[in-house]
Amino acid sequence: DNKILMVNPAFTHITGYRFEEVVGKEPKIFYSGLHDQAFYQALWDSINTTGCWRGEIRNRRKSGESYIEELVINTIHDREGRPHRRVALFSDITQRKQSEEQVWLQANFDTLTGLPNRRLMRERLAQEIKKASRMQQRFGLMFIDLDRFKEVNDTYGHEMGDVLLQEASKRLGACVRESDTVARLGGDEFTIILSELDNFDSPERVAVELLRRLAEPFVLNDECVYVSASIGITLYPDDSRELSQLLRNADQAMYAAKSQGRNCYRFFTLAMQQAVNQRARRVSDLRRALELEQFRLVYQPIVDLFSGQVYKAEALVRWQHPEHGLVPPDDFVPLAEESGLIVEMGHWVFRTASRQAARWRQTLRPDFQISINKSPHQFLDARHSSEDWISWLHRLDLPGQAVAVEITEKLLQGEESRVREQLLTFRDAGIQVLIDDFGVGYSSLANLKKFDIDYLKVDRSFVRNLCPGSSDLVLIEAIIVMAHKLGLKVIAEGVETAPQRELLTAIGCDFAQGNFIAKPMPVDEFERRYFAMD
Ligand code: C2E
Ligand code: CA
Ligand code: CA
Repeated sequence: DNKILMVNPAFTHITGYRFEEVVGKEPKIFYSGLHDQAFYQALWDSINTTGCWRGEIRNRRKSGESYIEELVINTIHDREGRPHRRVALFSDITQRKQSEEQVWLQANFDTLTGLPNRRLMRERLAQEIKKASRMQQRFGLMFIDLDRFKEVNDTYGHEMGDVLLQEASKRLGACVRESDTVARLGGDEFTIILSELDNFDSPERVAVELLRRLAEPFVLNDECVYVSASIGITLYPDDSRELSQLLRNADQAMYAAKSQGRNCYRFFTLAMQQAVNQRARRVSDLRRALELEQFRLVYQPIVDLFSGQVYKAEALVRWQHPEHGLVPPDDFVPLAEESGLIVEMGHWVFRTASRQAARWRQTLRPDFQISINKSPHQFLDARHSSEDWISWLHRLDLPGQAVAVEITEKLLQGEESRVREQLLTFRDAGIQVLIDDFGVGYSSLANLKKFDIDYLKVDRSFVRNLCPGSSDLVLIEAIIVMAHKLGLKVIAEGVETAPQRELLTAIGCDFAQGNFIAKPMPVDEFERRYFAMD
């Protein structure tokens, strides 16, 4: 008759109902209202035909709280085989369910924004590909990267950065349809799957709208903060039918947007793919160049403007390419930096240049010094250690003064402790440090003292237009006065004419370097010139 006859103490413990409260009542007093008619229909069909049912069901405790039970209903039959009693055995699995759900949420969603994460995005993308291929539809995949988000983090702190990301993800969601997937890949990278594109220009419209929405100010701590975004777009099936290729395409298109000035969107194109392939070829060329020792060093003399003597030179790297001839550093150093090959290349430069310094200290002058360019990437790379360089000098039995290291102002701006440690290691080893291209960046005077800088090398853009009465002359003169007060020496680079050299001497500049004095040259030429001079 579907009436409760008996319950045990565990029942009371789980449901909150005592025996007297439920005896004679129907189980529908537990109904949670969370299942539909069809669910109960199926349950009763099963009991009536097989005598049993097994499954998970949501019921309600006496307190009104709903919970999930794992329930087994069995039937006891009488002698004639008719149903006599039903026995319902259940346990409360609410907590287990919740933690399962938690695990699922954590595995698939980003905790900060609540958006699907990379894993779930890939899963949805795989489904989208299946669906689109079955229905012969087109869909779009977008990569969105916030521009200069790191600056917000650095300026306002990570908590405010988080707030901005949450707000940005809301704005992204507001620009697309319910059926589209917005996901966060991590950091400030988002992706959107625009499903079922019927109209060919709709991803463009979405991109424009996204850029507009993200450009609106974000209010953090009562301050208005502005960011923009770079968006890459690829289309299925036009650009590819393959999941990983689509992801790569969108990524490449996004980088193209970034390198074309940010705050814009780019569609993936074949040309982009070709550029990426070409870059990969050039990186492997460069790697082979290292193995085959195709690099050469040329040396440009640095003249002491008081004595007119040359006892310093800058080492400049060249690539003796088997097909393209002598390649200048501006054509391959940036690639070496991006690909990390700069570390190995830099070691080679250092070893070769310091060996040269050892030789010239014996043959030319005992105080000869070679300065070596060191890219910020070398300082920041975990595989690089300045100690290696110092022990190499020890091995050559050379004092630190035999070499100097040229760095750029940019390096002193960051708060990297690695950089600081390495610069101080140099100082302790007696290796002098120069600020290269001085004047084009912004170094604080405090940094020049803090990092114990020895020389400023004034950028050639100031030297180029040097003439009596020019503002550049005033500027260089001011730099020289300041440097001398701080105990630093000044080198002017890019000296191309006699008047420039004379003006620099007149205002007290210490050293000069440039094509007027001499162009960079290979070792034998350098020796012919400066052996002869002595
Ligand atoms: P930089 O350190 O500013 O080097 C000076 C550059 O100015 C050299 O170009 C040199 O040839 C050029 N130069 C010298 N005198 C004159 C002149 O009178 N007028 C003009 N217009 N230019 C002059 P280069 O050798 O092509 O080097 C370009 C850049 O490549 C260097 O700029 C440096 O940043 C980088 N580089 C060169 N060798 C190395 C290296 O071994 N390691 C690293 N990390 N970077 C290097
Ligand atoms: Ca330099
Ligand atoms: Ca320079």
